[in-house]
Amino acid sequence: MEDIFRFVDEFGPIKVVYISLPETGLRAVVAIDNTACGPAIGGVRMAPDVSAEEACRLARAMTLKNAAAALPHGGGKAVIFADPRMPRQEKEQLIRAFSVAIVGLTEYIPGPDMGTDELAMGWVHDEIHRAAGLPRELGGIPLDEIGATGFGLAAAVEVGCNAIHLDLKGARVAVQGFGAVGKHAARFLSQKGCILVACSDSRGTLSSPEGFDVNALIRLKDAGRPVTEFGNGETAGPEAIIDIPCDIWIPAARPDVLNQANANRLKARIVAEGANIPCTLEAEAMLESRGILVLPDFVVNAGGVICAATEYHGGNERAAFAAIDEKIRRNTSMMMEESRRAGISMRTAAMGMAAARVRNAQGARRWR
Ligand code: NAD
Repeated sequence: MEDIFRFVDEFGPIKVVYISLPETGLRAVVAIDNTACGPAIGGVRMAPDVSAEEACRLARAMTLKNAAAALPHGGGKAVIFADPRMPRQEKEQLIRAFSVAIVGLTEYIPGPDMGTDELAMGWVHDEIHRAAGLPRELGGIPLDEIGATGFGLAAAVEVGCNAIHLDLKGARVAVQGFGAVGKHAARFLSQKGCILVACSDSRGTLSSPEGFDVNALIRLKDAGRPVTEFGNGETAGPEAIIDIPCDIWIPAARPDVLNQANANRLKARIVAEGANIPCTLEAEAMLESRGILVLPDFVVNAGGVICAATEYHGGNERAAFAAIDEKIRRNTSMMMEESRRAGISMRTAAMGMAAARVRNAQGARRWR
């Protein structure tokens, strides 16, 4: 247990529950980091190599993300120690066993994450009537299909562009990771007049200074083919996306892709972090010292969780888009303003804003 207590600070985690049910093969950890703003919302991750430490760190990230988005929710995360590629029937049994095990943890609302999806949340809901990110048939809003996170990123980029007097019309965009987040960010930005000059996936990079038809590229990806098979433009390896001159660079793939070794190669004016922790702290500092505007992940990629929270409270797709637009624009502006006023990095400004919201909420709670 000492290991877990290593993570405890003024916010939490307030509860870490270890679940072991040998008769079902279930081993899981639920970390509820903080519930001052409301019941904790956060994904259920299924992977063979997860850990209690990972659950606690991800739960804290959700506390900050939900507070930064001013949602009435704290942060939590669950991890299930299992291979998500197991046969469907076994997976359903495991998720149902997990659901029954957490029925009493009413301060935790599960959602989808790596290794779980909308169907899995349907099983959780069937058992305990408490889950976000449900299938459409159960009142869910399919956040990856509608591009909730990409929509929020595009809104944040627009606010950033206004602040640095960069005209969105004709602004050149490069997207690393043309998946659920990246392709929709490209789509919404192209609707605002931007030109997609480069995109990449795990197989390679596609680029052209003339720009691409974003919808045609999305059709190609949805057919399961890599961007490098588009047919025109230059192709290169996945790393090449870092060297493409552009105005707006969107990492939407993996953690730590920009680091001390490569951050100086980037030729952009704005980096909008679609993925979680795509830049190391050193890389963010290097970019900011070169005058590049860095819009940090937990503020600008919150579209997905805002969508899930809207769904949980009975809202529809239109309400979700309105909430994402309003919250992400306001928070991006507030963060930039605070960063300028105090002379601190965007991330430090955003962390301060989020932490202050959690502290204020804690101040209103009976236990104090
Ligand atoms: P996804 O699997 O749909 O897409 C990821 C894309 O990245 C794929 O096209 C994959 O080929 C590509 N990729 C993988 N390795 C790459 C590499 N080395 N170089 C270039 N491309 C590479 O995943 P997603 O849902 O779009 O999520 C992307 C990131 O955003 C993840 O870090 C995720 O945690 C984060 N995120 C997602 C959401 C959401 O709403 N889906 C919300 C917040 C944060």
